[in-house]
Amino acid sequence: MIGAHFSNDGDAPLDDYRLRAEIEETELELRKRFLELCQILGGLISSEADGQLDGGKDKTEDDKECVPMEEQLWEPEDYEIPPHCIPVRCDVREAPWDQLTQLVDNFDAIMMDPPWQLATANPTRGVALGYNQLSDECIASLPIHKLQKNGFMFIWVINAKYRTALHLFQRWGYQLVDDISWVKYTVNRRFAKNHGFYLQHAKETCLVGFRGVLPSNFCGNRVGDVICSERRGQSQKPDEIYEIIEQMIPNGRYLEIFARKNNLRNYWVSIGNEVVGEICEEIIQ
Ligand code: SAH
Repeated sequence: MIGAHFSNDGDAPLDDYRLRAEIEETELELRKRFLELCQILGGLISSEADGQLDGGKDKTEDDKECVPMEEQLWEPEDYEIPPHCIPVRCDVREAPWDQLTQLVDNFDAIMMDPPWQLATANPTRGVALGYNQLSDECIASLPIHKLQKNGFMFIWVINAKYRTALHLFQRWGYQLVDDISWVKYTVNRRFAKNHGFYLQHAKETCLVGFRGVLPSNFCGNRVGDVICSERRGQSQKPDEIYEIIEQMIPNGRYLEIFARKNNLRNYWVSIGNEVVGEICEEIIQ
């Protein structure tokens, strides 16, 4: 939480008070902005969306990807809904993008973990993914140009989709500027190895793209590019990625596409067909 590290010991010099006041003001401003967003987005999330949540088609064998049994740990009920998050439950193909862009003219950071569709998927080892996948073309047709003119795109890639992700960057007008590696551990602090064709995989990669001009709140060279943490549920990414983004672009406007309930985070707009649809009371008051 912004400003949470300030002590209230009464000895703080005047500058600290001033800084704290400024931070509180910024936080208030952010909340107000998000309050507006929530109210408007709340109105956009119609109950009709529920009928479309399966992406409009049944899963076929081709939709499935092998994942090891131990990754089937994720239970949506386990997650609290943060008070200042902005969940938008919808199919990305029918998301209220235009309304969103009327409210936020530019997101400083967009993160996505696409449900990549694999060409070959006849699972003989492991179990199938519990959600539908989208074709590369469908992901490419997301209106990213409307959502971000200046800023960073963080996109999680699987081994078979590096080239596709680079094409997406090119199509959307981004330059590949960096990447983040997530080294996965088991609860016993061993590498959490997953199967691969050439090598076993114990890491995932998030490519970092950039377009336009640097956000004024950008803080470069501040956080590292390696996350070492435990593997959790199926496809679930580590929370550290949010910390990296928020430290790189403090007090920014953040958007996650293909979010789930476990991804909801204060001051992030989280869009996906598995996020919870309710807007939190606290933020609407
Ligand atoms: N990064 C997430 C996992 C994302 S998995 C985590 O840390 O937990 C990809 C998500 O995209 C799944 O929730 C899936 O249901 C969702 N998805 C698939 N097709 C979609 C569509 N057409 N519209 C919105 N979300 C979709």
